[in-house]
Amino acid sequence: MTLDPREQRAIMIAAMCRITHRDGVWWVPSQSLPEKQYVVNLAAEKCDCPDCDNGFVCKHIRAARIVLKRELNMDGSVTETKSITFEERKTYTQPWAQYNLSQIIEKKRLQVLLFDLCRILPDAEHKKRGPKPHRVRDCVFAMAFKVYCGLSSRRFSTDLSEAHKKGFLSRSIPGPKVTAFFENPAFTPILRKLKGSGGPDILTPFSSLFFLRSMITTHR
Ligand SMILES: [Zn+2]
Repeated sequence: MTLDPREQRAIMIAAMCRITHRDGVWWVPSQSLPEKQYVVNLAAEKCDCPDCDNGFVCKHIRAARIVLKRELNMDGSVTETKSITFEERKTYTQPWAQYNLSQIIEKKRLQVLLFDLCRILPDAEHKKRGPKPHRVRDCVFAMAFKVYCGLSSRRFSTDLSEAHKKGFLSRSIPGPKVTAFFENPAFTPILRKLKGSGGPDILTPFSSLFFLRSMITTHR
């Protein structure tokens, strides 16, 4: 099944970027302008980007939807935090079975996309003696997937081991090890190179330095 390109980019944005909800709207970082954030009103299905002005449901709206779904409570209800003069918590009931299903599909789709993206990455040279390092493709997959899951390294271990079982990783990686990947500056030029390789459009958010910075600052 081919995903709409806007949907593909939205999945990546939702996985890689820090999307916040405040003052009743969603703030979605721009992929091309590091300091820019687009304002998304999900209820009105409006975003202040040019794509939305042209009548499309833009990637920012789609990304905000994904994040909202991800933040759904386990019982299927949505907790919305409103800060006007005081903090008011309002709970809506949702058809949890459908939401649950969409969440399962999203996580699976993300792994397929990420795997596809990472498998073109060449391996680093290994001159030193000692244990063989993890493959670059596995490291980048694990880092991006960790950002998506938003869990601590230990709790993320289960997701990584599942990804390995499904064949998205060539070797299993212990969750806590991923933290060290984030500290490794060797990944910066690889991501830069990816951007210049003229790969699919989906590489753009993935390879920008802005994205890398946000990944590192969020997960130190
Ligand atoms: Zn937009």
